Amino acid sequence: MIIVLKPDVTKKQFDHVLERIKALGLKPMVSKGTERTIIGVIGPEDALRVQPLEVIPGVEKVMAVLKPYKLVSREFKPQSSVIDVGGVKVGGKELVVMAGPCSVENRQMLFDVAKAVKQAGAQVLRGGAFKPRTSPYSFQGLGEEGLKLLREVSKEFGMPVVTELMDARDLPLLEKYADIVQIGARNMQNFELLKEVGLTQKAVLLKRGLSATITEFLLAAEYILSQGNFNVILCERGIRSFETHTRFTLDLNAIPVIKKLSHLPVIVDPSHATGEWEYVEPMAKAAVACGADGLMIEVHPNPEVALSDGPQSLLPKKFAAMIKELRKVAKAVGRTI
Ligand code: PEP
Ligand code: MN
Repeated sequence: MIIVLKPDVTKKQFDHVLERIKALGLKPMVSKGTERTIIGVIGPEDALRVQPLEVIPGVEKVMAVLKPYKLVSREFKPQSSVIDVGGVKVGGKELVVMAGPCSVENRQMLFDVAKAVKQAGAQVLRGGAFKPRTSPYSFQGLGEEGLKLLREVSKEFGMPVVTELMDARDLPLLEKYADIVQIGARNMQNFELLKEVGLTQKAVLLKRGLSATITEFLLAAEYILSQGNFNVILCERGIRSFETHTRFTLDLNAIPVIKKLSHLPVIVDPSHATGEWEYVEPMAKAAVACGADGLMIEVHPNPEVALSDGPQSLLPKKFAAMIKELRKVAKAVGRTI
């Protein structure tokens, strides 16, 4: 259920509504908009049918939410969310570009990439320290050493860092070294991991699962919000289809669909979606054109020798040229980079 309060609700009435919800054994989640306050009610809702809240002064209406998710929905929060990550705002007019290598390999390459992408216009530095590799024999990442390098280089260039968390036991490390915790596609339905990051206030970049429907994707985000962490950024990164020319199929439909259903910002990762550097720019342009709030792009100074995802990584020079082109598309849709 979602409870919409009257515009002129008093503090006393508001507190009373919260008390009633708690007394019924339910959990209230409050969304304060510029015009209205909305309360999402979490828990078994049958109690509300027996003791309706409509009769309480200050309550305008009580709505049943037909969708399976609540807190991520636009019914709960009509205005789009803007997630502030160390001063970088994700979901505003300015598009946010998160760029860097697939994996942190060593200090020098991370430094070189960070310098180049920052100069080109990227605001956030990406890099994996814990890598979800399909084969157990592939490079698994530098672990804590990689996180330390990320922190050091990000400080040098004043860029917030996004990096992946695969194991809840590493969360304290990420809380220490990262600004955005990435939950990768393969962990999108690792519900215990989602609950753990939901208990923090760290920004979370949640990537869409390889075979997840949009509803499943939004329900995964709901797990995080339901624990109290509303700082969630969604990322469309391609889904499995019958097509084999590209690594995955970038589902750009998901952008306007999610924008309609949810208040959360959505970015697009054309690097993992296509798997080939040549297709990254055209799909990045398409993503900006259809309303994405930002991009995640893999960049490597020498893709030939990359320890992971070389074929889809852009050379720094190519990345800079792409950003210039993207600025034109952004302008055409009323955004900036
Ligand atoms: C990544 O961003 O490094 C990554 C592994 O992406 P995904 O989880 O989308 O495959
Ligand atoms: Mn990668």
